[in-house]
Amino acid sequence: MRCIKILRGYVFRLYPTEEQEALINKTFAATRFIYNYFLTEQLQLINENKKQKTIKEQLFAMGNLINKYPWLREVDKCALRVSIFNLADANKRKNQRRNKQELPKFKRKGINERYSINNFHRVYGGKAYDTIKIDIKNQNIILPKLNKVKISGYKNKQSISGEIKRAVIKKDAGKYYVSINVAEDITPVVTPVSSIIGIDLGLKDFITTSQGQKYKNESFLNKKRLKGLLKGLSRCQKNSKNSQKIKLKIQKLYQKERNKRKYMVDKITNEILADNDIIVVENLDIDSMKSNKEVSASFNETSMYEVVRVLKYKCEWQGKQLMQIGRYYPSSQICSVCGYQNPLLKDMHIRNWTCPACHNEHDRDINAAINIMFEGVKKYIKQLK
Ligand SMILES: [Zn+2]
Repeated sequence: MRCIKILRGYVFRLYPTEEQEALINKTFAATRFIYNYFLTEQLQLINENKKQKTIKEQLFAMGNLINKYPWLREVDKCALRVSIFNLADANKRKNQRRNKQELPKFKRKGINERYSINNFHRVYGGKAYDTIKIDIKNQNIILPKLNKVKISGYKNKQSISGEIKRAVIKKDAGKYYVSINVAEDITPVVTPVSSIIGIDLGLKDFITTSQGQKYKNESFLNKKRLKGLLKGLSRCQKNSKNSQKIKLKIQKLYQKERNKRKYMVDKITNEILADNDIIVVENLDIDSMKSNKEVSASFNETSMYEVVRVLKYKCEWQGKQLMQIGRYYPSSQICSVCGYQNPLLKDMHIRNWTCPACHNEHDRDINAAINIMFEGVKKYIKQLK
């Protein structure tokens, strides 16, 4: 049996004491300070046409900073180190983007507050020692510097098997969370392939399958309420108590939306995977989609990318196969019954059509999904040869 290592994420709500909360916030501030410090230095070196510092040099310089600013010593040093690596990652991502001139942004207080730490796993005399330990049964986690913190979540689980790799502590809409990444060994059950499904990802109907199911693109953001809150915010004095309150309400609104969407993506992908062994989707070209003005507004509300990402790892875990086919294949223009290619269908507004060759009636998206499935079948047969 083939055994694979996967990285599974778990998110728990954290209930820090007042003291722990203060230390968490101090760590947010310290990691932000380090990140912004080295970003500032990076900009200076660019201006002076000088060579950039390596990570090794930055880590060394960080030691001097800690000596200069004793408050940095109070927080977990690992979190500070990770923020240097985060800056390096942000630079790497920038190089992959089209606009290479765009630099990483400075971190700001109150926005996306989080810090990451790695777990140090050692074994002495047959006993394992970890710096991050979780006890699901008693609902607590041990984190460096913070010690034991109360958590809630996954109460139906007895324990988490596998090695904790890292933890991210974050604040969202006034609440604290910890997400941990655990390396787990799993043996996917390899099932004989008995069914294949094609999926058309669209903007109007979020997902259409070759079996005729349609999932609507739901918007979970309460826009009316958001509009009201933003109006209220504009009337407030900047940084006043009232404006803080409204900001928190806005964060909660977005948090609710994210949670609902996550739930939706989970439900849809589970339904698709329940009865199918091979899932065929088109390769998404996110960049070109975003550049199309007409679709960009609704794009932000859809989670096509997320659906493909979730399908990918769930397939891997369940021993199923996600197949991606070239996006230049004209899946929506070809009649799935006779193969006639109808160029009129380049017009996205045509939702239903009758094939001029075989006179079959088609729903644009279902027809496309069936073609995508056929492409998958072709690819699958090629693999067998
Ligand atoms: Zn036809």
